[in-house]
Amino acid sequence: MTTPAAGSRDNPVTTTVETVLPVGCFWFLDPDGTLCLAPGCTARIQDPDAQCLCDTLAARLDHLTEKLRALQARQETADKWWHALSDVVNEHPDGQTILTATHTRRHR
Ligand SMILES: [Zn+2]
Repeated sequence: MTTPAAGSRDNPVTTTVETVLPVGCFWFLDPDGTLCLAPGCTARIQDPDAQCLCDTLAARLDHLTEKLRALQARQETADKWWHALSDVVNEHPDGQTILTATHTRRHR
């Protein structure tokens, strides 16, 4: 017989002040031992015994992987802009003045 997943009704999570709450539905025992559900999806907000509709770990991984790709693409664009702008400023006759003014503003 396998142990039910942590946070399931048959294997509630023991909570402490430092407990990091998992994403999605989970069952826990409050300090007086009462079994409680922290719902993470609409289905379980309406009915604690309903099937959990929270994202699976694979769905969360897909979502975060896509978010990482978008952030990397955004960073790549920002890096290109930064290098182009730096080159233009460095080649400008007032480049040093612009850099000094930028440095001053950055520390305001
Ligand atoms: Zn759920």
